[in-house]
Amino acid sequence: MQRISHWVNNKVVAGTSGNVGKVYNPATGEVQAEVDLASVAEVDAVVANAKEAFVTWRASNLSRRAEIMFRMRELIDANRKELANVVSLEHGKVPSDAMGEIARGLENIEFACGIPAMLKGGYSEQASGGVDVYSIRQPLGVVAGITPFNFPAMVPMWMFANAIMCGNTFILKPSEKDPSAAMFVADLLRQAGLPDGVFSVLHGDKVSVDRLLEHKDVQSISFVGSTPIAKYVYETGTKNGKRVQALGGAKNHMLVLPDADLDMAADAAISAAYGSAGERCMAISVVLAVDSIADALVDKLSSRIPNIKVGPGTDPVAEMGPLISREHRDKVASFVTNANAEGAKVVIDGTDKAKDAGFFLNPSLIDNVKPGMKCYDEEIFGPVLTVMRVKSYQEGLDTINANQFGNGTAIFTRDGGVARQFQFDVQVGMVGINVPIPVPVSYYSFGGWKASLFGDQHMYGPEGINFFTRGKVVTSRWPDPRTSSVNLGFPQNR
Ligand code: NAD
Repeated sequence: MQRISHWVNNKVVAGTSGNVGKVYNPATGEVQAEVDLASVAEVDAVVANAKEAFVTWRASNLSRRAEIMFRMRELIDANRKELANVVSLEHGKVPSDAMGEIARGLENIEFACGIPAMLKGGYSEQASGGVDVYSIRQPLGVVAGITPFNFPAMVPMWMFANAIMCGNTFILKPSEKDPSAAMFVADLLRQAGLPDGVFSVLHGDKVSVDRLLEHKDVQSISFVGSTPIAKYVYETGTKNGKRVQALGGAKNHMLVLPDADLDMAADAAISAAYGSAGERCMAISVVLAVDSIADALVDKLSSRIPNIKVGPGTDPVAEMGPLISREHRDKVASFVTNANAEGAKVVIDGTDKAKDAGFFLNPSLIDNVKPGMKCYDEEIFGPVLTVMRVKSYQEGLDTINANQFGNGTAIFTRDGGVARQFQFDVQVGMVGINVPIPVPVSYYSFGGWKASLFGDQHMYGPEGINFFTRGKVVTSRWPDPRTSSVNLGFPQNR
């Protein structure tokens, strides 16, 4: 059985805890590897190593860091296909979809190559007589990232590229369900010339997360995962004096107005709902259809669903792979199975496929959902699209704003004025106008509102740089000795 171990000082390090997790091939349902789960002592050793590496790394010059990141960009580019296959084999998403996650992660590496320009401070000459004032941004120290299963390559890239380019040393605790992408990326960083100890991978479960959250030498935590764990990580990390950004779950609505191009809206909803088997935090989960076009839109959605090719990533024609685990597949299926009893209408039931040995479901479509139903109130995170019928734009907007989550949303319309009003009023962090999955490009920042984000710094882009650095302001005087005198008054400009 393949064993996946930790990554420290640019090499694989066997675990010593004796605890392992099972890594499945979701397309067959078989266990394909075991992953070491770190003990408290192993976490402590990795943190101590990263702390030591920080001393030299923070003193490295910016052009050297940029050179390494440029090499990393080339290495990821050259290894896209191989990395996509690693992701596909453990996550289940088809390789073409995994290629998309790598392309979007690569944007973050490219952004990080230019960080020297973003780390420039301000300078005020002659703020007072002979006094200059300037600001600098310095790294935090050892920082940690805890990532979810659904983007095992991209989400770590959201974090480590900015963190290490700002001069921090980074510890990644990837999802134990698909840990190999992190190891692949770690080896590329080694090939790019990153010094020992700057990037470590620590595999683990709650034991290692809890230790990172309480460790006095860990300065910050970047987390992406489900809302209950994001909240826990935020509360525990901040209680222990750490800077925390914790991104949680989602329920993303797509509001389709009567003037929208319905074929375009249907194509977009299908792509955004069933891509990656719905296991995307920006997946469209609810279509809000204004009454007058609701029947037509549901017909268009229903006619497209049978064309979706479900199968393993090894099948070149497959467009949608399995879910991550048997338990998750069964939970997703239960939302569909219970929907009719809750008063909704199951238009297409994809749960038949749950009989397969792999963790597959076919796409499902549920109409007439309402708040109060489980399939509306909870995050499904699977290939299930729900439709809620609303009387007007205003009812659609109010529905979105009343939802506990605020990650992504989209409006489909030809009316620019209404779209602009929507962007003004909607209480969601990432908004698409005729764009169903509005994941910001890497020079903006990624993050939701409400129960989709705990903390006030979004991930990557400019906010990522703020998160991974602290400001310092220096007031300096190189006095002319002829003007020297004693003055006990508080320093002032006049
Ligand atoms: P998860 O919350 O189960 O796990 C995320 C990480 O937390 C993993 O590394 C896991 O090992 C760790 N963890 C799990 N349980 C823990 C516990 N009790 N204590 C401490 N640590 C724990 O999430 P997941 O199932 O891997 O990922 C899917 C979720 O992530 C969905 O809810 C999805 O919406 C969300 N997500 C959000 C975003 C975003 O940007 N907002 C992006 C991707 C995924």
